[in-house]
Amino acid sequence: MTLDTAIQYLPGVGPKRAQLLESELGISTVGDLLRTFPFRYIDRSSIVRIADLQPELAQVQVRATVMRVRLFAKNGAELPPEQIKYNMVNRLSALVADQSGEMEMVFFKGCKWMHARLRPGSTFIFFGKPAVFGSRLNMVHPEVDAPDAATTGVLTGVYTSTEKLKTSGITGKVMVKLIGTALEGILPGLQESLPEYILKEKGLVPLSYALRQIHFPLDKAALAKATYRLKFEELFLLQLSLLKQKFVRSRNAVGLKMPVVGEAFNACYKALPYELTGAQKRVIREIREDMRSGHQMNRLLQGDVGSGKTMVAVLSALIAVGNGYQACLMAPTEVLAQQHFANVSKYLQPTGVGVALLTGNTGAAARREIHAGLQDGSIGVLIGTHALIEDTVHFKALGLAIVDEQHRFGVEQRARLWNKGWQGTPPHVLVMTATPIPRTLAMTLYGDLDVSVIDEMPPGRKPIQTLCVGEGKRHAMHNFIREQIAKGRQAFIVYPLIFESEKLDYKNLELGYEEIVKAFPLPDYKVAIVHGKQTPQEKAFNMDAFVAGRAHILVSTTVIEVGVDVPNASVMVIESAERFGLSQLHQLRGRVGRGAESSFCILMKGVKVSKESQKRLDLLCATENGFELAEEDLKMRGPGDLEGTMQSGLPISLNIASLAKDGLILSDARAYAQHILDQDPTLEKPGNAILAAELKKDRYVSKDYSRIS
Ligand code: ADP
Ligand code: MG
Repeated sequence: MTLDTAIQYLPGVGPKRAQLLESELGISTVGDLLRTFPFRYIDRSSIVRIADLQPELAQVQVRATVMRVRLFAKNGAELPPEQIKYNMVNRLSALVADQSGEMEMVFFKGCKWMHARLRPGSTFIFFGKPAVFGSRLNMVHPEVDAPDAATTGVLTGVYTSTEKLKTSGITGKVMVKLIGTALEGILPGLQESLPEYILKEKGLVPLSYALRQIHFPLDKAALAKATYRLKFEELFLLQLSLLKQKFVRSRNAVGLKMPVVGEAFNACYKALPYELTGAQKRVIREIREDMRSGHQMNRLLQGDVGSGKTMVAVLSALIAVGNGYQACLMAPTEVLAQQHFANVSKYLQPTGVGVALLTGNTGAAARREIHAGLQDGSIGVLIGTHALIEDTVHFKALGLAIVDEQHRFGVEQRARLWNKGWQGTPPHVLVMTATPIPRTLAMTLYGDLDVSVIDEMPPGRKPIQTLCVGEGKRHAMHNFIREQIAKGRQAFIVYPLIFESEKLDYKNLELGYEEIVKAFPLPDYKVAIVHGKQTPQEKAFNMDAFVAGRAHILVSTTVIEVGVDVPNASVMVIESAERFGLSQLHQLRGRVGRGAESSFCILMKGVKVSKESQKRLDLLCATENGFELAEEDLKMRGPGDLEGTMQSGLPISLNIASLAKDGLILSDARAYAQHILDQDPTLEKPGNAILAAELKKDRYVSKDYSRIS
């Protein structure tokens, strides 16, 4: 028997069970079975007496005997067990007891199966969260385990199961037995999956020990060693695979060589009105190294809102210009492109480098002029929206493309960008994002990319006071905005939706706008409105009014989420804040606090706010650090949720390690993988043959995530 043996041939399985294991748990080989780890352990040393249960306790286990089981219909009437029709059962209630007292176990699903299982007189271990219902203690949908499922030691693994598996006879007990059989068959001839020297250097236990202890731990210490070994291996091999791909790519991807910094860079740098932050300097150095290396740069630049990414973009563009190339900067919206253009033009003044703005609204004559300027090289930096990657736009020598907020660009558009390079060589690419991705996640999602992080804010920014209030404070909120306007400031009010939806009970923008206009009447107050259904002209008109200070309040949907800079705005009100995700709330908040004045973010919450949403809002009130929030968000949602929420899925799925919880192991594994590749980039040394073989396995042959742009 080997790890690759089909599961069907494991004694005790056979074709029928094999099919079930495959369809229910994705287990098709003996190796898959052995890598189906317990998701928790019953610790027989920590069973709680019913008399000691407290409703505030987290999940606990009790060992109790079933006294009586009752079935109830939807209307609450008790159903007689003799003539039971299970489709009528809505609730099963089991009264259980240990020596200290009694309690109720409640089930709304799987009642038939539970009814058969929870025979009066039999004893089980129930695992769940205690609660009080009426005057009685209960647990709703506890996990139920036979107390004798235990084998060796005090810890017994509990495996994921499904209704279907259980009813087909593959109970938890059977799983334990199958795993036992598999271990016996496998362990004697098991191939170690990491070289001996790695086990030694990292202090890891051998695979055979790890596999046995993860399933049948002798004690907690052995389990901890086993878990660590398996987590490390998983993350290490994943990073090794990603970093190796990166090495191969950087060896192959020829890039435009830009050896000097150039006059323009220096002229701009000298004229800067402020000192760059340490983080900005470091990131510019990293970019400079890339651009002169002769390999194509493919770098993701992360920085919280307001961390000063624009300056980094400008200086990078000037490196390209200083080497005789051109640069372009693409923004996701017209408004942002205009704002970038205004800022960049200012910075470029001392350099004499030509800069132009190209968007969907650029007229035909201006367009012709820009096309000519790009061809003859008099335009060094082109700023714009998607319009600048249209086929009609030809550069003389595009050397660097900067993309602001990568999420908004599709794959096809990115490909067009690549084709605009010089004489067949693609431009260097720098993608800037203000969406903080936790480091652990970035390392995995973009493991084969270069990531730069601006993790320091420019000095002198005043903290933003964030508070979360309910409907009762709406009046006070209006008064507060009036006070701020009286001081010469402006306010944003953001709504989650444009049109009322019957299903979702949140405020709609139009009602909100009417209400605001009533509370802030002309001629004293001017209110602008911006949303996605307006024409570009309407949008620009309203936006301009706010940016120029003619409007006091901007009511909008989340179109203002990215980038807009109005330093005079000191209040951000977010309506139905519980509807937004943490990172989006953080982005929105980043729109204020850009000026010298104290700023405020007011989270208006609805009547019904789930516990989880409240936690999000509390978190936001507690910290302004985007990366901290992103880490917390990841922890709250759990990485299982990530594939749905991130635009790109994980390169592989993790079996035992968790991106949210195992950040330290991940960093260590990555550094170690890099260290090994530094000495043996293609894993050709005999000592690394095992590693090379491991990486050939399906699970590590990941898609190519290297080309973000
Ligand atoms: P981001 O695009 O990362 O959100 P910006 O580039 O728009 O941030 O910068 C935010 C503000 O901080 C701008 O007004 C910019 O002029 C200013 N700024 C950038 N770098 C510095 C610095 N090193 N010192 C002081 N102010 C800075
Ligand atoms: Mg920006």
